[in-house]
Amino acid sequence: MGGVAPRAGEEIAAELIRRRQKIDHDELEFSVLAAQFAETDEYEWQGFDSPHAWLKANCHISGGAAAARICVGQQLEHIAQSSAAMAAGEIGFAHFALIARTSAAVGERLDQTALLRQARKHTIARFYDDCYHARHAADPKGCAKEEARSVEARSLDISDGDEGTVYINGYLDKVGGAAVRTALEPLAKRAGKDDHRPREQRMGDALVDLSMRALDNGLVPQRAHLQVTASLETLLGLPGAPGANMEFSLPISAKAVERIACDCAVTRIILGSDSTVIDVGRAKRTISGPQRKALKVRDCGCTWPGCDRPVSMTEGHHLIHWIRNGPGDLSNLALLCYRHHWMVHEGGWQIVCTDDGRMLTIPPQTGFERLPRGPD
Ligand SMILES: [Zn+2]
Ligand SMILES: [Zn+2]
Repeated sequence: MGGVAPRAGEEIAAELIRRRQKIDHDELEFSVLAAQFAETDEYEWQGFDSPHAWLKANCHISGGAAAARICVGQQLEHIAQSSAAMAAGEIGFAHFALIARTSAAVGERLDQTALLRQARKHTIARFYDDCYHARHAADPKGCAKEEARSVEARSLDISDGDEGTVYINGYLDKVGGAAVRTALEPLAKRAGKDDHRPREQRMGDALVDLSMRALDNGLVPQRAHLQVTASLETLLGLPGAPGANMEFSLPISAKAVERIACDCAVTRIILGSDSTVIDVGRAKRTISGPQRKALKVRDCGCTWPGCDRPVSMTEGHHLIHWIRNGPGDLSNLALLCYRHHWMVHEGGWQIVCTDDGRMLTIPPQTGFERLPRGPD
């Protein structure tokens, strides 16, 4: 093969593997030192309450990375077979750290040969599961106890941002987290191919949609309905009208009330201009049960062109709002998914039904476009 020039990529590939093995070897030595350091009280002398905290602050690694390295250093003598496999380049440090963690959890009952066989062929994510199963086989009670601890550690912090907005931050155990994701993921899918919302935005929308659905279906005990207080002028969208008040929220715009009242079971408390209560609407749906059934059968899902959201993710929309005397019969109703319902009310889009029953959407007209054009 003398005449063939060596490929540049081939050399880089070999070098990458060499470097990675060297890094893994350094990680191993680092871990031995970290475990030795944890045996001393030097971290206390330096004002830290754990060796992990010291490593985090001084070696600039995460708490998880610090714990993994101390664990590797402590377990090293019990997992010699695995460290030989790492030295031979058969597994990497990440696999090795998982084996160390499993060893720390199950002690004598570790079947290192079996685990190592899986480590050689499985990716880190898959091997993580292998280690869990190995741990569970050896110590089902320990696994259950650990999971119970993380259930007890669930937390959700909803704090005030500016102008009535809220920040959400929280922690969930794996089963609870999976339940939340399973409920949110279908709602967070793109609503048609023109849906360009980034994933974070779709997840935020999904959380709101899920809550609205729970309220709508009476799944929330006691406070089952959004209580909205608005004047007639506000509901009619007359110029000069104030906003509406909603429980647990700062005042909201007339457009938002319009959407919520379009289908949602809201408790309507409508005030006259002199602030006397003129209509305390019972918390009933604005679309009756039989009518909703017929609507679902007719529309089979969101009627926005190109949207494939199923019936379960939609709500009823009055093409002419009932506030403006739009009739409650089927010809004036259409199913829209939450996203598209929002786009119609607050987003400034219009959806109309043509004579042959097709739905047509009209994008928002910005004020700018409506300005008469002057001479260029
Ligand atoms: Zn509507
Ligand atoms: Zn839709």
